[in-house]
Amino acid sequence: MNLLFFSALDLFPRPAAFSREAAGRAYFVLRISNFKIMLTKSKITADQLYKILKNIKVGGSVCTYSYKKCEEFVPLINEINELKEEKNAVILVHSYVSPEILYGVGDFAGDSYGLSKNAMETKAGIIVFAAVRFMGETAKILNPDKEVLIPGLLDGCTLADSINAKDVRGLRKEFSGYTFVCYVNTSAEVKAECDVCVTSANVYDIVARIPNEKIYFLPDKFMGMNLDAEMKRRGLKKEIRYYHGTCYVHEEYGTEQIFKIRTEYPNAKIVSHPECAPKVCENSDYVGSTSQILKYMKETDAKEFLMLTECGLSSRLEVEFPDKKIVGSCTLCRYMKSNRLEDILRVLKNPLDRDRVVIPESVRRRAHTCLEAMFQYTAKN
Ligand code: SF4
Repeated sequence: MNLLFFSALDLFPRPAAFSREAAGRAYFVLRISNFKIMLTKSKITADQLYKILKNIKVGGSVCTYSYKKCEEFVPLINEINELKEEKNAVILVHSYVSPEILYGVGDFAGDSYGLSKNAMETKAGIIVFAAVRFMGETAKILNPDKEVLIPGLLDGCTLADSINAKDVRGLRKEFSGYTFVCYVNTSAEVKAECDVCVTSANVYDIVARIPNEKIYFLPDKFMGMNLDAEMKRRGLKKEIRYYHGTCYVHEEYGTEQIFKIRTEYPNAKIVSHPECAPKVCENSDYVGSTSQILKYMKETDAKEFLMLTECGLSSRLEVEFPDKKIVGSCTLCRYMKSNRLEDILRVLKNPLDRDRVVIPESVRRRAHTCLEAMFQYTAKN
């Protein structure tokens, strides 16, 4: 039975992440504001899907939804949802992945930190990770006995691919005495060479707590620069070194977009991600991870926003906060957007070797220690 549960604004808070699994495997729970509550035994219909997705405007024709497009998605969505129940599978979706996946078949949606916790807690035997390979690897590190499948067709991420294990070993020789902190956007073999993993949601607090002044942060150059500035702002004595990797999506943003939007929309709030350049972050009204941005949107009274992060988050905000307006444009991540419903169905039906995440046990164990250090630091919160 499917329970379609569209919560009204005054009945339920808008969640930063949603979970269907928590309500039981047989139920389909989706909390979207401003939709009426429905209880149905039927599968999702094109009408229901279109009601969810029709508000998406930013991102042009690639991101917007017609009724016809929804009609095409619905048979795939229903087949995937049936199959995942049959196979005891769970689908984790990063907020940057296309909305028809996030709202159609996702059991959990969120950022790297939230999803890695979901991966750790799930009782399902199969995890389908609609995101990029390093996120699937994180799920596998935490769940060695589960099958982790990644449906994305484009294997990569400019940031994670900027560094490998050999590079880290070289850096550790050069910077001995430093605590090596890696961003979650790294491969399992890179995590295995580092001391503590962090996400964009917890990087500042974790580094502040590390009892070593000397920190080597990798691979994101901009996040390293932002981290250095934040430690100074907090009055903490830290010597921060950082690697030179970048995310090609966030690297694209500059202050000229901010100044243009500030002229055209003087009341708009500028929201950016810590993978953006320091100049961009300094000129933003709010800087945070994707789930922190969702929380900010929920709590602020502002009505207009420029989102300096991947388009998927703008789409999510347009669905979940229909009374708020996203101005300006956004940028697509080709890796995240290479996830398609057709491939989720394919990996559930008949996974190929390349779809399976496999990590040598010695690497997995060391990478697990690095992730475990992150969970321990955040538990001290
Ligand atoms: S947005 Fe895309 S390229 Fe940038 S860090 Fe995320 S997955 Fe990598």
